[in-house]
This record gives sequence, C-alpha cells and structure tokens, in this order.
Amino acid sequence: MNKFDVLIIGTGPAGLGAAFGLLEKKPNLSILILDRNEVSSGGLRNDCKMNFSWPIGFPEVCWNREQAEYQLSRVEEFLLPSIMDKKNVGVYFHRAEKLGVKLLEIRQSHLGTDGGLELIKTLVARLRGLGAEISLGETMLGFDPARRIATTDKRDIGYRNLVIAPGRGGFAFLQEMMNAAGIAYRDNIVDIGIRVETKEERYPIVKDYYDPKFLFPKKTRTFCTNSRSAYVVQEKYGDKESGLWYSVNGHAWSSSRPENGLTNFAILKTVTLTAPLASGQSYARMLGMQAALLGGGRPIMQRVGDFRLGKRSFAESFTGDLYDFEPTLPSCTPGDIGLSAPAKILNALWNAMKLLDSIVPGLLHPSTIMYYPEIKLYANRPAFIDEHFRAAEGLYLVGDGAGTSRGITAAWASGLRAADGILDALKV
Ligand SMILES: Cc1cc2nc3c(=O)[nH]c(=O)nc-3n(C[C@H](O)[C@H](O)[C@H](O)COP(=O)(O)OP(=O)(O)OC[C@H]3O[C@@H](n4cnc5c(N)ncnc54)[C@H](O)[C@@H]3O)c2cc1C
Repeated sequence: MNKFDVLIIGTGPAGLGAAFGLLEKKPNLSILILDRNEVSSGGLRNDCKMNFSWPIGFPEVCWNREQAEYQLSRVEEFLLPSIMDKKNVGVYFHRAEKLGVKLLEIRQSHLGTDGGLELIKTLVARLRGLGAEISLGETMLGFDPARRIATTDKRDIGYRNLVIAPGRGGFAFLQEMMNAAGIAYRDNIVDIGIRVETKEERYPIVKDYYDPKFLFPKKTRTFCTNSRSAYVVQEKYGDKESGLWYSVNGHAWSSSRPENGLTNFAILKTVTLTAPLASGQSYARMLGMQAALLGGGRPIMQRVGDFRLGKRSFAESFTGDLYDFEPTLPSCTPGDIGLSAPAKILNALWNAMKLLDSIVPGLLHPSTIMYYPEIKLYANRPAFIDEHFRAAEGLYLVGDGAGTSRGITAAWASGLRAADGILDALKV
C-alpha cells in the first residue's frame, strides 16, 4: 500500500490551494490528490468569477479580516487575476443607501466557464509538474483515522496528513466521515432562495459592475450574478433511496462567446435553525423535495407577472409578446413558487426584489423569471482544534463542504491555511 505525506480529497479550489501551498514551501512532499470526477471539477469550472475582497466568501465564524486578507493576497499573487473595472456605480450606491440596502464594493475577476476550464487544465499540469500525483475518477469511501488509512473505490491509501475538501456536493459525505471519526459538528445554517433571470437591459447595473452584491434587510442578499452569455443550470442532490431533489444555479461563458442578452443572479435568505431542528441539510432536503414534488421532479419557474397576480405560471406564460424571452433552463416546470417556499422566506425574497427594482428599475418586468429553489448547503461547522482547520490529529477539513468558505477564493485561502498548519506540524 502506498503511503503519502499528504492525501487531499477534492480538486476544487480548496484542495488545489492546499496542494500548491504545501509544494511551494516543501517541494519534496509526497502528495496524492483524488477526485471522484473524471475531470478536475468544482466551481472553478462554473463561471469562475473570483472575488478578492473581505468578507465576500469568508464565513466570519472562522475568519477575521486580517487572516482573510493575508491569504487572499497569496491567492491573488498566485492566480494573477485581471480585476474588472466598475463604472457609474455611484448612483446605485446612493439609491441603495437611501433604502437601507448596502451595495458592497468588491474587486472581481471573471473568466467564464470556458476560461475556468482552461485555468483548471493549467493548474493540473502545473501540479503534476511539481511532482503531485493526481487521480481522477477515484472516490473516497471511508477512512480509519487511527491507522491513517483511507479507502477509495479502488484501493487503500496510507497517509500522514489527510485534507478533505469535498465541496458542497460532498456535504453529506463529509458528515459521514465526521460521524465515523467522532468529530462534533453543527450544520444549523442554510441559504434558501430563488434565481432571477431577466433581460440585461432590465438589470443594466451588470454592464458596469459584473457581480453586484446587495445586502437587504432580513438576512437576504444577491449572489452569483452572471451576464453577457448567461445560463441557469440545475444541480442534483440526494439519491433514489433518500429522495432526489434539485437546486438551480447559474453560470456564464467568457466574453469570447456570443452574448444572449440575459442576466441571472440568486437572491438568498440565510436561515439559522435552533432546537428542536438543528440540521440545515435536513431542512434543505425537505424543501428541495417539496419543490420537486410540486414541479413533477423538476425545479419550478414562475414569471413575475404571474407571481404578483397570485397566479401560477403555465406553459402559455412562456410564450406571447409580454413574455419576451425564453428561459435558459426550459426543463423547469411552470408553476407556483408560493405553494412551495415557506412564507417567511418568500416574503423576504419578494421584499428584496421590490427594493432592488427601486435601485435598478426594470427588474420587476412581468417577463422576469423566478426559479425555485436555489439552496446553498455550506454550513457544516466542524469543531476545529486549531486555527488551521484541523479537526483531529493529521486531519484537516476545508472548503465549502466544511463551512470554511463560500466561494472560489475563500476556498483556496482555506486550503492555504490548512497547508500552513501541516507545514508547522511537519516541523515538529
Ligand atoms: C454552478 C456553480 C457556479 C458557481 N460559480 C461561482 C463563481 O462564479 N464564483 C465563486 O466564487 N464561486 C462559485 N461557485 C461556488 C464555488 O464553486 C465554491 O465556492 C468552490 O468551488 C468551493 O470549493 P471547494 O474546493 O470547497 O469544493 P468544490 O470546488 O466543490 O470541489 C470539491 C471536489 O471534491 C470532489 N469530491 C467530493 N466528494 C468526493 C469523494 N468522496 N471522493 C473524491 N472526490 C470527492 C468533487 O468531485 C469536487 O471536484 C459556484 C458553484 C456552482 C455549483
């Protein structure tokens, strides 16, 4: 059986950040990186807009500004992003402020899904060049923390340090691993929302500020804006036994692809659960399954024109002169979001839409589409034993799945923070 100094699970930004952070300082380390997917996957390959400003993407329960800015500067130095200009945004800041809404000022870059794929190829080649082994299409199934052996669908692997960075899609897998290793965790926070799709001319702020982050009252915010060549996509969660459910998401191609004149972004509300239900994942799964039930096994889409009249959308709402663009995720079921989303959540989302329409007038055109649900599960909170996201001797849990990040750059930064911890431990 092979034994590695460091075994990393996941080739998303958290896993890559850990690998580069280690090899940069200690090139002789033996490192194996596994991913269950055939190509290095994760969010780097979806739209790939990167935010380089505190606190975007950094959960404040495990980061302070100084830690985040130190690691962000390392991420930026390594990835050398081209930061986009923002123009004419003063008017939006001013309007937002008057309504009690905050528009954050963020440094961003955008590669697009095609640009992200190119970046992944370069990074993987670079890692291999540095001597790391990368095994794609191999899934970690379990581990024996006492003997430091991980089991995959192909073999047993020995390690001195294990970094698990399985992303949001690996949320349940990580919980299984923590249960097996007796690591305490909480997952009582979840973001629930909708994805809004409209013509770019009805949300023109995106021409001047690629991914504007608005913070509304009631813990509601805009998230992950895509434009120019933008599409809504669907992610699958669960399985046939526990029940399948779906979350929508969005991405855009780089500026080299033809524009489709549409923009999409999420409006999310953060829900913090307390006793007796304290599992964000269980709550999200039930809401996701309820939406799938009402949508006949698909997410629901509804035109704003129908929503404000209290009517469900039908196929006809997706034709006709008033409804003047086609949905980019036409497989969704035209329906009634109000029958599926809890009232408290829906009220907060609709309130945010109305405020946003006063800041960027045009958004509430009848043809604007609301897709439901968009759910973000990134609030596993393992009980870490040090500031390097160490959960037990030789075991580090990082990235979105472990609740240490909510975006590409913060995930990379959390991988760097774990790498610093491993390097310290190796010195002893
Ligand atoms: C459609 C979409 C668009 C997004 N757009 C953006 C964006 O533009 N900007 C932004 O900042 N963030 C974006 N995000 C969020 C971003 O992807 C995440 O914040 C980021 O990728 C988290 O990094 P990670 O390394 O923690 O996890 P991931 O990037 O999800 O990587 C985890 C990896 O672990 C692998 N894995 C999981 N379980 C196992 C296992 N048991 N064995 C082996 N491998 C396993 C997975 O296959 C995956 O490749 C987007 C997410 C999605 C889904």
